[in-house]
Amino acid sequence: MSDAPNFTIIASGGCNAKCDFCTDDKNAPLHNSYAQNLLKAIQVLPEEFRQVSITGGEPTISPDLDAILSLVKYSGRFDKVVFTTNGARLLKHLDKIASTVNHINVSRHAIGYEANVEIFKTRGIISDKDLQLACSEFNKRGVDVNLNHVYTKDSNLTEAYVKEYVRYAKALGASSVSFRYDQDENTLETTYLEELFFGYSQFNAGSCPVCRSHSILVDGLTVVFKASFSEPSDSLSYLYELIYQPNAKLTEDWRGDKVYPSPKPKAKVKTSSPTKHFVSMHGSSFGGGCGGKSAGSCGGAPIRTSCGGGGCGR
Ligand code: SF4
Repeated sequence: MSDAPNFTIIASGGCNAKCDFCTDDKNAPLHNSYAQNLLKAIQVLPEEFRQVSITGGEPTISPDLDAILSLVKYSGRFDKVVFTTNGARLLKHLDKIASTVNHINVSRHAIGYEANVEIFKTRGIISDKDLQLACSEFNKRGVDVNLNHVYTKDSNLTEAYVKEYVRYAKALGASSVSFRYDQDENTLETTYLEELFFGYSQFNAGSCPVCRSHSILVDGLTVVFKASFSEPSDSLSYLYELIYQPNAKLTEDWRGDKVYPSPKPKAKVKTSSPTKHFVSMHGSSFGGGCGGKSAGSCGGAPIRTSCGGGGCGR
């Protein structure tokens, strides 16, 4: 997982879905200066911030989508651009998204459109047929697509289910899938689903004090398991991420409390030792960083229970 600092842009305009696990404020009002302040935010980003995650809410329904994509593209300062979506209007905006981003995270928390409709509580997510078309078009343009699946302790996912999900993702044309655990307490302990895959050799393991991830190959497709708790800004004594909020403010945290640049120097935070929660897997260190909703729509950003992908890490 990437340990590079990540800039997240939460698109304005809320979301068309109503997932039970969402923490997003879908009623946040639009802000007249959203695009103007986004330009200013990009201009004050520290040089090390070379990757950006565009998320929501649902970015494909945002009235500021064109401005977001243009500002990111023409700033010329990002090496990696990740876009997290439930697919609502993905096909409609495919060309301009493909010309700006490197990696797409599509939130897909079940197998098949109808099962996902039940979770998202809207028929306004992308159909399987359109998602297959979108994957094909993105792949042609060198943009890879990851399917992101949030699960909880009550999801009761099985090894057989993960294998079926992998077949589903491959049929759609996705290059990888991510399973993000919705932690209900401050722990990074191995989840029941990860334990089912102890026999698979892992690669790309990484971690930060509040998150971890590792990847395995299942039937030839990369499967990434991610878990996190807390906000990096609560546990790190250095700047790990910056978030551009729907209210047109740049902050160091997802809650939106710590405006950046701060009028006062950032207080040093005593770093806790969440590593004590790490559980070794077959003797190897088990970690993974936030990766960012980058590492998967969520590629970059810490795992939130909304798409975080914004909105699902997305
Ligand atoms: S979890 Fe994501 S798709 Fe679901 S309501 Fe929240 S922002 Fe929308």
